[in-house]
Amino acid sequence: MSDATKELKEKLFYKAPYAGEKMTSDEVDAADSFCEGYMSFLDAAKTEREAVEQAVALAEMNGFAPYVPGRIYPAGSKIYYNNRGKAIILAVIGESGLTDGARIIAAHIDSPRLDLRPNPLYEQDGEALFKTHYYGGIKKYQWTAIPLALHGVIVKKDGSTVKVRIGEEDNEPKFVISDLLPHLAAEQMRKTMAEGIAGEDLNVIVGSRPFDGSDEAQNVKLNVLNILFEKYGVTEADFLSAELEIVPAFKACDIGFDRSLIGSYGHDDRVCAYPALMALLDTELPRHTTLCVLTDKEEIGSEGNTGLNSAYMAFFIKALAAAEGLEGEAVLSASKCLSADVNAAFDPNFPSVFEKNNSSYLNKGVVITKYTGARGKGGSSDAPAEFMAEVRAMLDNANVCWQIGELGKLDAGGGGTVAKYVASHNIEVVDVGVPVLSMHAPFEVVAKLDVYAAYRAFFEFYQK
Ligand code: MN
Ligand code: MN
Repeated sequence: MSDATKELKEKLFYKAPYAGEKMTSDEVDAADSFCEGYMSFLDAAKTEREAVEQAVALAEMNGFAPYVPGRIYPAGSKIYYNNRGKAIILAVIGESGLTDGARIIAAHIDSPRLDLRPNPLYEQDGEALFKTHYYGGIKKYQWTAIPLALHGVIVKKDGSTVKVRIGEEDNEPKFVISDLLPHLAAEQMRKTMAEGIAGEDLNVIVGSRPFDGSDEAQNVKLNVLNILFEKYGVTEADFLSAELEIVPAFKACDIGFDRSLIGSYGHDDRVCAYPALMALLDTELPRHTTLCVLTDKEEIGSEGNTGLNSAYMAFFIKALAAAEGLEGEAVLSASKCLSADVNAAFDPNFPSVFEKNNSSYLNKGVVITKYTGARGKGGSSDAPAEFMAEVRAMLDNANVCWQIGELGKLDAGGGGTVAKYVASHNIEVVDVGVPVLSMHAPFEVVAKLDVYAAYRAFFEFYQK
């Protein structure tokens, strides 16, 4: 190939290179050390409530204070609005306030898991078990025969809250859902993967020794309730006003001889939430008022008053606008948002569901997803070409590694993000996030260079 041909190819072809190619060794080191903070966050924040607690702690260390309705905030003010302990909006007031709209990054902090049912505890054949109700899109068979932890809150009738977090420390017990031994699984193995483990099979073992050592009916259950009563002062009826979540007991860890990847529960979507939060904490005096929205309930369709299908984000922006004497709807209409959520990384183990030219890959940087949805873009917010151009120019100008991606092959399935709920307020929005392997599995995988690219992309957006 002549040099001229090579040059012309470089000029005319589009190719997302390996992210490390564009980075200095100092930047690669910076990416690795950024990910150490991310891994601590993953272990400390396995549920939406824990993620909000971590965000509040980090924000307060960085000079953020709770939002006071009606107060007029000068430029540079750092505030946060905690929505019921399950979602949070953090804001840095910009030099021009909300005059030209807000700059918003929205990520979600709920992840697929097993919730306890309102009346979860029962005894059967010598075991005490919890009945669960799966939350979000899971492959049920992946949740058997792995160590599990219990996180959440029990709220008593007097309004007091008991926090529960068991199974994370080395000296704490863990929990497990049993699976059938292969020797006796002939019939199970003939079922489809969707049917091999059913929702009603996801029962968590929580005890096996009877109270008093006596083999009477319900004594194993009684023993568990007695332990819970002694530890937390709760009775069986208190489960009725609890939010208890079964999550994997794994900790985040490096993957690969080269330590290039991170394996963990809950990358979707903490892998965008954490970089978005860090980018905001590092933003001192932006031009526009910048918001980091960490929301709940994305995995079940953004429903409820802590999900982005509720008006809580718009209410917050309208309240800030009113304090500045601006009209809320005009501010929303002038706002721009990165919907920060993951996409499926191309998986060499399963190439048949991906279209190579329009998939995101590990280690190629942050992925811009113009639209999600299923079939004919159903259920998607399709970002306009104008905003796509703005975002890719911003990333190129800042030398941030990025790529484009669709969620797999047409007709292979589909999915959605919060983008359409943001767009419903007439806000300009596009999905920008991190490629993930084994998405929604109890143990997902991301690349460190991509996590850092997300941080850099989000930081640039906040400075615009
Ligand atoms: Mn997600
Ligand atoms: Mn998800």
